[in-house]
Amino acid sequence: MFQTSILASGSKGNSILVRSRDTGIILDAGISMKRIWEAFDALELPRSLVKAVIVSHEHSDHTRSAGALCRSLKVPLFISPDTYAYCSHRMGRVDERLVYFEAGVDFMVGDILVQPFRSSHDAVDSCNFTFAHDDRKLGVAIDLGYFTKLTLLKLSEVNTLVLESNHDLQMLMDGPYDWNLKKRVKSEHGHLSNEQAVGLLSQVLHPGLQNLILAHLSETNNHPDLARNVMSNYLQSIRSDIRLLLADQYCHTPLIDI
Ligand SMILES: [Zn+2]
Ligand SMILES: [Zn+2]
Repeated sequence: MFQTSILASGSKGNSILVRSRDTGIILDAGISMKRIWEAFDALELPRSLVKAVIVSHEHSDHTRSAGALCRSLKVPLFISPDTYAYCSHRMGRVDERLVYFEAGVDFMVGDILVQPFRSSHDAVDSCNFTFAHDDRKLGVAIDLGYFTKLTLLKLSEVNTLVLESNHDLQMLMDGPYDWNLKKRVKSEHGHLSNEQAVGLLSQVLHPGLQNLILAHLSETNNHPDLARNVMSNYLQSIRSDIRLLLADQYCHTPLIDI
């Protein structure tokens, strides 16, 4: 068994559960602990499943309850040293739970292999991830302004992909953000647009890729129907039968078999 649920995703908070039969990992805890447990209850999962919390980068939409979660569950917090230096003041006491990881160096949590790799984003040491168990692989690429050869290489064999589809470029440019923030979002260190998500997907598509979950949608600069249409138009044009889902800011996805 190898499953994922996007507990929440968007500019206001992100959290992703990855689980084998006995090992659960929470990647990012940018929503309240209460909301994480509400999702667990709805999915009928025990809290004791969680064996680790991993933080991808220091932005508060990824770190909000990470420290509290590790203390309450008495599980390790996997984080890079530079990321921790930037957000330790928001974590509370986690010293005895800290486990440092490094981009490019794989590690195990229970029976799940975690592969962090660097992403282009305006954070001190931002990472994207793959998770492998048995012969199945999950890729998570959210919070990236640009994709590199490394991104494509790492995501080239995943069976399920959680992919950022943050904004519609026209909505961003016409929208209420000030010019500096617009520039940041669309820069190489910001977030992927709907079209860029199609560009990335088109380069990692292979017959083994079965589920695509669009994530980190902006509530201000995107609309779920728009993100879905841009991607599904592309998928139809190449006659792909990949299953397309959307993550939501306020509601978790069902458990998806990776
Ligand atoms: Zn971020
Ligand atoms: Zn984010």
